[in-house]
Amino acid sequence: MLDCSLYPDLLVTKWHVLSPRCPFKTAKLHCGTPKMKTFASVVRCVRVWFGYLVFLITRRTSEYKLIERRDLTSGVTNPVILLRFEVPDSTKFENKIFDSVGVSQRVNGRMVNRYYSVASSAEDKGFFDLMIKVYPNSKMGTHLQQLKVGASVTVLNPIGYLDYLSINVNHIGIISGGVGLAPFVHLIRHVMKSQRNIHIKMLFANQTKQDIIMHDQLVTWAQEFPNFVVHFILSRPDDSWTGLKGRITSELIQEYMPSANLNPLIGICGPADLNKLAKRSLYDQGHRNYYVV
Ligand SMILES: Cc1cc2nc3c(=O)[nH]c(=O)nc-3n(C[C@H](O)[C@H](O)[C@H](O)COP(=O)(O)OP(=O)(O)OC[C@H]3O[C@@H](n4cnc5c(N)ncnc54)[C@H](O)[C@@H]3O)c2cc1C
Repeated sequence: MLDCSLYPDLLVTKWHVLSPRCPFKTAKLHCGTPKMKTFASVVRCVRVWFGYLVFLITRRTSEYKLIERRDLTSGVTNPVILLRFEVPDSTKFENKIFDSVGVSQRVNGRMVNRYYSVASSAEDKGFFDLMIKVYPNSKMGTHLQQLKVGASVTVLNPIGYLDYLSINVNHIGIISGGVGLAPFVHLIRHVMKSQRNIHIKMLFANQTKQDIIMHDQLVTWAQEFPNFVVHFILSRPDDSWTGLKGRITSELIQEYMPSANLNPLIGICGPADLNKLAKRSLYDQGHRNYYVV
C-alpha cells in the first residue's frame, strides 16, 4: 500500500496495466476529507484506466535473440537461469527500474505468456537479462531452459515504472525471496552509481546457500558500497551457515529494515506468503510507503 498523497508519481506502475483491480487499491488516499478521497480516487481510476487503454493500443512486441544462458543456481530443486537477449537497437528497448517484459512463446502448440522482471540495468547497452526460476514441468520455465542460443523469443516491450528518483527518499528497504531478487538488481546498481546518499538495507530469504542468486556479487557490492547492507536468511541451512536462520518474521523486518520514522521506500518481491507477511508487518510497524514489485 502506498501513500499516494506523498508519492503521486508512483501511481503508474506495472500493476495498473497488469491487473485492473489494483488501481482501486493503490488509489487510496490516506488523508483529507471523505469527499477529497472520493474525488482523488475517481481521478486516479480514470487516469489508470485511460493508461490501460493506451497501453493496450500501443503495446509493441519484438523478437529478441538469445545470446547467452547461464546457471545462477544449480543442484537445487528449482534452479534459476539467467538468459541474455541481444538488443540490436538500444533506443527500442528502454528499461527502467522495476520494469518487466512479457514473453510470448508457443509451447506444445499453445501460446503461453509470462511476465519477467528485467534484471539488467538501463546502462547495459546491447542486451537485457532475465532471471528465470525453472519449476518442474512448468510451461515457460522449462521451454526457456531448453531454448538454444541463437533462437528468438517474442517479447512485449518493458512496462511499469517506479520513479524512485522523483521522490526524495534517503532510505530504501528490500525484502526479497529467491528469484524475487531480479527487480532489485537494477535498483541497487543505479543507487550505487548515482552516488546519492541513499541507504539500502536488504533482507534476502532463500532455502539453502546454493539457492542464493548472485551471493558473491551482493557481498562484493556490500563491501564496496557502505550504504548497502545485505542480510541473508536461510530456511534450510547446513551446519556451516552462520547467518540468519528460519523464515522472515515481523521481528526480523523490524530489526533489519529502515525504521518507519525515516520514511523509507520498501520494495517487496517474493513468494505470495512472504509478500503478505511483509506488507502486514510493515503496515503494523507504521510504514506506509511499500511496494510489492
Ligand atoms: C510482473 C511479474 C514479474 C515476474 N518476474 C519474474 C522473474 O523475474 N523471474 C521469474 O522466474 N518469475 C517471474 N514472474 C513469474 C513468471 O511470470 C511465471 O509465473 C513463472 O515463471 C512460472 O511460469 P511457468 O510457465 O514457468 O510455470 P507454470 O507452467 O505456470 O507453472 C507450472 C508449475 O510450476 C510451479 N510454480 C509456478 N509458479 C510457482 C511459484 N511462484 N511458486 C511455486 N511453484 C510455482 C507450480 O507447481 C505450477 O503448477 C513474474 C511475474 C510477474 C507478474
